[in-house]
Amino acid sequence: MNLESFSKEALLHQAAQAGAVACGVAPCQPVSAETRSTFCRWIDSGCHATMDYMTRYPDLRMNPDGLLPGARSVISFAFPYYHPSAPGNSDVIFARYSLGDDYHDVIRARLTPVAAWIASACAAETRICVDTAPIFERYWAQQAGIGFCGLNGLIIVPGIGSWVLLGEILTTAVIPPDAPSLQSCGECRRCIEACPGQAIRPDRTVDARRCRSFLTIESRDTHLPADVSLGRRIYGCDICQEVCPWNATPAVTTIKEFFPRPEILSLTRRDILGMDQERFSLIFRKSAIKRAKLTGLHRNTLPR
Ligand code: SF4
Ligand code: SF4
Repeated sequence: MNLESFSKEALLHQAAQAGAVACGVAPCQPVSAETRSTFCRWIDSGCHATMDYMTRYPDLRMNPDGLLPGARSVISFAFPYYHPSAPGNSDVIFARYSLGDDYHDVIRARLTPVAAWIASACAAETRICVDTAPIFERYWAQQAGIGFCGLNGLIIVPGIGSWVLLGEILTTAVIPPDAPSLQSCGECRRCIEACPGQAIRPDRTVDARRCRSFLTIESRDTHLPADVSLGRRIYGCDICQEVCPWNATPAVTTIKEFFPRPEILSLTRRDILGMDQERFSLIFRKSAIKRAKLTGLHRNTLPR
């Protein structure tokens, strides 16, 4: 049996129950030649910086069939995380997505019953991906019609904005696909003009070596480049989303796990500089911020 036997409404209902604001389906097949060449160009130019994991498993990245043998459909989901209480009034700012529980855990937990429903209804295999497997999440979101890729490289869901996190369910079930999104940024260039590192490239990719998000979260260098000034943004950078007109009236999340934690919102520069490993582990338990490690957070917070 496959999901052709069910109405798409049943799947959308499952997605809504999980907290997703958008859900769409694409046929599982190799990614487009354009996506492949854009990615190869990005890697060859060194724009992945020290994220060597981006160069691994190229075959899986180009065809998710390898992530789940026999996969026939990619179901893409968008979960909103915008909350009006962020970023708070402290002298430091964390990227909005990081203020609640770690989205990897939250989205996986929320997609698990959806995957179980599909498996049961269709006698199908499923695999959940949440920014962990080598898969072009934004490409599949666009192919599944839930949004389009902005110049800043992020998925923009019309009517919702870009303050969303993505998750996918690969399945061997054959599900009627949705039409890919054909929207675009049009004449807008606001994010390019606002980016403090001039990191946004014309092909909708970001040069990680110049991006504050990479530098404050992923980089393990002892010192940041001399010409980089972070100001209050010590973890991540939301500037290219803040200026985006599609985020003028963002959807506010109802996912409680994404609500900003008061103990993170209220942290000051002084608190962070005085933090030891024990306190860091306690405050950022189940938080994406732990990825920066204490040394990274201290580096980002020290006056320059
Ligand atoms: S996150 Fe910040 S530095 Fe990175 S591309 Fe966006 S505006 Fe530029
Ligand atoms: S700011 Fe403008 S150019 Fe950048 S992603 Fe938003 S709509 Fe596209």
